[in-house]
Amino acid sequence: MVLISSDNHNHIIYDDILSMTHSASMKGIQSISITEHISQFRNPRSEIKFRSVHSNGRMFDSFEEYLNEFSKLEEEHDEDQSPIRVRKGLEVDFSPVFEEQVSSFVNQKKWDILLVSVHELSNGEDVEDRKVLGDPNSSVNRWNDYINLEKRALESEFVPFDVLTHPIRLARSTPNVPDNFDDLLVDLAAVSKENGKALELNGNDIARDFTFVERIARACARSKCRISFGSDAHHPSEVGRGLEKARSLVEKYNLSVLPES
Ligand SMILES: [Zn+2]
Ligand SMILES: [Zn+2]
Repeated sequence: MVLISSDNHNHIIYDDILSMTHSASMKGIQSISITEHISQFRNPRSEIKFRSVHSNGRMFDSFEEYLNEFSKLEEEHDEDQSPIRVRKGLEVDFSPVFEEQVSSFVNQKKWDILLVSVHELSNGEDVEDRKVLGDPNSSVNRWNDYINLEKRALESEFVPFDVLTHPIRLARSTPNVPDNFDDLLVDLAAVSKENGKALELNGNDIARDFTFVERIARACARSKCRISFGSDAHHPSEVGRGLEKARSLVEKYNLSVLPES
């Protein structure tokens, strides 16, 4: 069995790339992916009405400015440490509303890894917005809508991505799930498998909604889809968050892990 040795989901809008990669090295992680939100780039942010964005944190003017961060790593290479592999990536929002605009922006460059996430429902609501808590009907509708959007994302070729991130993030706002929830997840995992994508075991979700992440792991085992681990760190202390629990799920369910390409 291949154990997880990479953290494929990290941000650099609050702390710089050196502190994030240093933290990963200290924790024995062999490969780290930096995957900034496309909504942290000034151009698509000003043109596209993203419903879920960070209200603060660093904004990048261009891909050149972003990619420049990675060159700092070469300058700073520390002789005492075995070099950690750093992959250049993005976390790309999927919505049918702005699919094309996002695609033409992201595809200007070749990336080492791309993550796709659904941050907003069809009606534009942020998936983490907790205003419908406790309403069983709207909970069922929200989960059906969310998982349908995730399936559309998996089937879409708008960007050449590897991983669907935080696939149960809606649990943050909508902890009541439909009766057939596990079947919905098995179906999602099957679509993921069919399209050659991995589902993410997300460190932030592991910390807050572990039972939901375990249900994703079980669905992946049933559908034989691959998983990817990403801490979703926004600070050095969060790099590798949830890694041990993700490893325990990989062992328990005998999951296959996205290979490091
Ligand atoms: Zn996200
Ligand atoms: Zn993220």
